[in-house]
Amino acid sequence: MLIDKKKDFDDKDLGFDEIDEGFTFKEAVREAKRCLNCPKPFCRAGCPIENEIPSFIQALAGGNIGEASAVIARRSNLPAVCGRVCPHEKQCEAACILSKKECGIKIGKLERFIADVDAELEISSVKKQSHIKGKVAVIGSGPAGLTVAGDLAKLGFVVTVFESQSEPGGVLMYGIPEFRLSKEVVRREIKSIERLGVVFQTDTLVGQGITIDEMFAQGYDAVFIGTGTALPKALKIPGYDLPGVIQATYFLQIVMLANSGKVDPIEVPVHAGDQVVVIGAGNVAIDAARTALRLGAANVSVVYRRTQQEMTALKSEFEIAEQEGVEFKWLRSPVQCMGTNKLTGLECEVQEIGENGKVIGTGEREVFLADKVILAIGQRPASRIVSTTTGINVSPEGFVITKERPYGMTTRHGIFAGGDVVHEPATVVLAMKEAKKVAIGIAQYVEAKKLMDECGL
Ligand code: FAD
Repeated sequence: MLIDKKKDFDDKDLGFDEIDEGFTFKEAVREAKRCLNCPKPFCRAGCPIENEIPSFIQALAGGNIGEASAVIARRSNLPAVCGRVCPHEKQCEAACILSKKECGIKIGKLERFIADVDAELEISSVKKQSHIKGKVAVIGSGPAGLTVAGDLAKLGFVVTVFESQSEPGGVLMYGIPEFRLSKEVVRREIKSIERLGVVFQTDTLVGQGITIDEMFAQGYDAVFIGTGTALPKALKIPGYDLPGVIQATYFLQIVMLANSGKVDPIEVPVHAGDQVVVIGAGNVAIDAARTALRLGAANVSVVYRRTQQEMTALKSEFEIAEQEGVEFKWLRSPVQCMGTNKLTGLECEVQEIGENGKVIGTGEREVFLADKVILAIGQRPASRIVSTTTGINVSPEGFVITKERPYGMTTRHGIFAGGDVVHEPATVVLAMKEAKKVAIGIAQYVEAKKLMDECGL
């Protein structure tokens, strides 16, 4: 089966256009009609943001896209994104009762279908709130910032999003490649958040262009930090600083910018014919490997020091990467990047499973020839904001510490945080889940503060 599929891929040119896996209208309604509308919907419990899944599926089964879309909008500001990149196979779809017997409902594809058709036919109209409950600054426009901004705007707050990049979207725009998530889809979802009244101020690096104290001086009642994890973790093995050793997040960003005509393609560090080795086995590693293939790399291998069972990437992403031609080398721990002035390869120590089930080195070495080594071993937050603002405590690794009440407030009153900058790199929907709770925390804080001020307390 796998071999046949691989042949299909061999026969095609891999491109950067989004791989279309969307339903047609007929397929979507047929799939929706399979839903049992369980009285106790496990799918909903499996969704981190508790999307009202059976309700939107029933609306779709009855052909009512507007109603289906309105149901989704009660929980999510990013349905077309979530429909494409959420780990459904581990969440709602895994929990679907039908997945125990036959094929579970393809919830992600249904969500994507509803969001796409709604946008294309402009079915839903967005109501801008006029009542002004307060003024909030949101720093960062990834899934966390977009969720806080959208939820607070719906609650009647005036929200400005400050973003250092020239376009909003965070990892959705600059990390996840086009072939998995079309940038037009991201732009479309941001437009609908804008229609709620949210203002985006791009090309603004907070901590340099403007500080949080200056934001308070401008009259903001609260500030939300959703700045993600901008700094890649280093792998300080010998030769790590050789030309040809690249960080995956930088690589993916440059490819996106080159594809959209914003930087010269010559800046892209992987070239046709390169032998590429990617270190790591998460979503970022798989995206980097598949991107390198699309740039014409002669071969692309992913090396991982643990076993296939321990990789953090989604199984479906791994399978598609393998079908496209990425090779996976399990139990290989990098020990040095080889070469003098230029990278020639990556030396790894072969690992094995010890008696206690732990991975241990065997002493045996294996060399992978490489013109480019791409590091995808994790990220951590930058310190630009906390170093220019007093009173925000962070963990030893730089993650912002927040409270339970009001939810998401940092150690400094009025400053909140959420998403990857708090809970370490995770998923889009987990960043959204936290951000939804923080939006409520911010609303409670601002309301309480205004009441105290009014009463002169
Ligand atoms: P981010 O998306 O990182 O957004 C932070 C934003 O803050 C950025 O726009 C940044 O420019 C801005 N910013 C930072 N500092 C400043 C500053 N000082 N001033 C102004 N703006 C600032 N998750 C999934 O669920 N499914 C996937 O398939 C998936 N694939 C991924 C692939 C890649 C390559 C990567 C890197 C991650 C992937 N993830 C995936 C993880 C997911 O994208 C993140 O967990 C999520 O984006 C975190 O959201 P966030 O809003 O906290 O941060």
